[in-house]
Amino acid sequence: MIAQQLRDSGEFLALTLAHPDGLSPCHFTLSNGTHVEIWDTGVIYFQPPQYGQHDIVLSCGIHGNETAPIELCADIVRDILTEKLLLAERLLVLFGNPAAINLGKREVTENLNRLFSGHHSKGAGLINAERQRAKALEIYVSRFYQHTEQPRQRYLYDLHTAIRGSRFEKFAVYPYLHGQPWRKQQLEFLAACDVHTVLLMQSAASTFSYYASNAHGADAFTIELGKVRPFGQNDMRRFAQANTTLRALLTATLPELPAFESIDFNIYDVYRAINKQTQDFKLHFADDVENFTSYPIGTLLATDGDIEYRVEREGEALIFPNAKVAIGQRAILMVVPKSITAHLK
Ligand SMILES: [Zn+2]
Repeated sequence: MIAQQLRDSGEFLALTLAHPDGLSPCHFTLSNGTHVEIWDTGVIYFQPPQYGQHDIVLSCGIHGNETAPIELCADIVRDILTEKLLLAERLLVLFGNPAAINLGKREVTENLNRLFSGHHSKGAGLINAERQRAKALEIYVSRFYQHTEQPRQRYLYDLHTAIRGSRFEKFAVYPYLHGQPWRKQQLEFLAACDVHTVLLMQSAASTFSYYASNAHGADAFTIELGKVRPFGQNDMRRFAQANTTLRALLTATLPELPAFESIDFNIYDVYRAINKQTQDFKLHFADDVENFTSYPIGTLLATDGDIEYRVEREGEALIFPNAKVAIGQRAILMVVPKSITAHLK
């Protein structure tokens, strides 16, 4: 029943949003031989009859109001189910937080992207739906990557849109690799997706992309594709390059990509995180300041009771400022330009 409905319409996102709290697992095979399994609400696995060595996870809607990537992934899933797109790789597509998508909100009670790598079970434990979902998503990703044939290359692209505007519309967060070199081929892939700004993290994180990178050795990125807008108000032309490149990856039709040239990129290194320590924490710049904005050395950025935070380095830029975070959490991330040519493989 569900199988026939999905074969006809391809509307897995609609099915997910009609059952935000869970879907019974089921499986079926398309007439082109692609095997389809629904593992849960928002969790769909595809295995084509012949597939290459890439195990690809595409995720979206980890934040429920970030609609453009949700539309992009829903279109890909629809085209696979209705056999317009012939997969050439194993693929797991995740719609991260269906209940929040239904509400049109970033989260229901807690930021899902701060709950991975076991953070879902810390402190008070699995007390809300987001914590339970984070744990479930880890289990699904683990199941997907546990494929016996070797060698295999693992990928996870976690697609987002930022809350605020950005000096660079699209950017990727490269999780901390614990000293391993960054992968040139992945930077070339990001550039093909029209993502030319990359932020290199310098510490472990509770994000989905760090989890996939650290726990599974995946090439994993948080990719910010633009600014948050409601459903139907996204100009999908702005995502055309990301859409085309992802589809080419899935169908094994990627052309040879232009070789990495540092001049094509804005690479930033995390310099420091400014954490909120008291209720008096205050930002000293306008609310609508764009990500990657920089100010002259000495400029006052924030105050927290008696503490003053000023720009310390040439080119230091701010991202993800948010004075409303809980005490103890990061209120601004400060980054500095970096050259990485010598640390690539
Ligand atoms: Zn997000």
